[in-house]
Amino acid sequence: MALSVLLFDVDLTLLATGGAGLKALSRALDEFHHDPAALEGISFAGKTDPLIFKEIAFNLGLGPDGLEDFGLLLKRRYLFHLEKTLAEAVDFELCPGVPGILDELKKHGVVLGLCTGNLEQGARLKLERGGIAGYFSFGGFGEHGPSRAQVAKAAVEEARRIIGSSAPAENIWIAGDTPLDINAARDTGVMALGVGTGYYTKDELLAHGADYAVRDLSEPGLVESLIGR
Ligand SMILES: [Mg+2]
Repeated sequence: MALSVLLFDVDLTLLATGGAGLKALSRALDEFHHDPAALEGISFAGKTDPLIFKEIAFNLGLGPDGLEDFGLLLKRRYLFHLEKTLAEAVDFELCPGVPGILDELKKHGVVLGLCTGNLEQGARLKLERGGIAGYFSFGGFGEHGPSRAQVAKAAVEEARRIIGSSAPAENIWIAGDTPLDINAARDTGVMALGVGTGYYTKDELLAHGADYAVRDLSEPGLVESLIGR
C-alpha cells in the first residue's frame, strides 16, 4: 500500500471557519487597545499561528524582549475568543468531501493525523465545531515551531512512531491547500497532496510540485488513486 498515513492541514483543506479565526484574533488584539494596523499586510494562508503572532508583534514595534510575553498573552486570549467566534460563525463549513473522505480512509486502514499551523487547542476547537475532531489523535501544530517545515517534521515523526520507523516516505502524505503545505512535505521528504479548496487551484498546486492534486476532497476515486500509486 502506498498510503499509510495522511496528515491534514486544517483551514481550507478540511474546513472553512467563516472568518472566525481572524475575528478571534481581532478581538484578542482589541483587548490590548492595539492599533488596527497590527494586522496590516499580514498574509495568513499556510502560516503557523506563532509566526502570525510574531508578525503582529513586529507591526506593533515590539522588540524581542516583549515578544515572548505578548505572544503568550495573545495566544491565551485568541483561544478564549476563538471558542466563541466559532460558535457564532454562521458561515462555518466543512470542505466538500469531508467527512466522507475521512471515513473512507479509515476504512482502508489509513492512519489520520494533522499537520497544521494552528495552535493545538485552536485546531481542536475548529475540528470540534465541525464534528470531526474524533478522526485525529495526533499531529504537528503551531507549537512545534514557527515554520511549517518544523510542524511537518513533528507530525511525520509522530506518524513514524505509530506506523514504524522503517515505513517508506512514499507512504506518508501531507494534504494542504497552499504552496507552503507542499513545501513542508518536500522539506520533510514525504508526499504532497494539493487540495484546491483554498486560494490556489489544483493546477497551481501541481505546478508548485504537489505529487497529486484534487479540486476538492470529494473527487471520486481519490483514495484508490493514492493507495494504488
Ligand atoms: Mg490551509
